[in-house]
Amino acid sequence: MINHPKFIVDHNVGKLAKWLRLMGYDALFFDGSNDSQLIATALAEGRVILTRDTQIMKRGIVTSGRLKAILIEGDKPELQICQVIESLNLDCQFRPFTICLECNQALLERSKQQVKDRVPPYVFQTQNQYMECPNCHRIYWRGTHWQAMTKKLEKLMDCSAG
Ligand SMILES: [Zn+2]
Repeated sequence: MINHPKFIVDHNVGKLAKWLRLMGYDALFFDGSNDSQLIATALAEGRVILTRDTQIMKRGIVTSGRLKAILIEGDKPELQICQVIESLNLDCQFRPFTICLECNQALLERSKQQVKDRVPPYVFQTQNQYMECPNCHRIYWRGTHWQAMTKKLEKLMDCSAG
């Protein structure tokens, strides 16, 4: 599981959650302010902590290596995701398009017929692969938004290679 870690993303680096989900990684967003709760969840669910909070890095459980945490350094989300990819040697093409970007739920495959009345007609005409989030029921397809994000990811891969 070393290259398929699960994450808990602190609110101070919240944008990382969507990027990790786009790559197919389970990335829980933590919007509380209680460090102990963040740490307890990370331990209970085996999640790597991503944070800008230096106090968390000083905790015994982190310094001893029992709990993995990464102190995010850059301000820009692009630099931040590069840092995560590099430090954990993540596979950017792990399982793209498998996790809801909003809810962090695993998406379910849907047939064209199943989504017929739920996507715009032009999408139905041109797309054959659909996924649905069991939580928010958002339908995903490989449209222009997805392609734009994939392009961005490819650029990030370049940065991690260089
Ligand atoms: Zn969802």
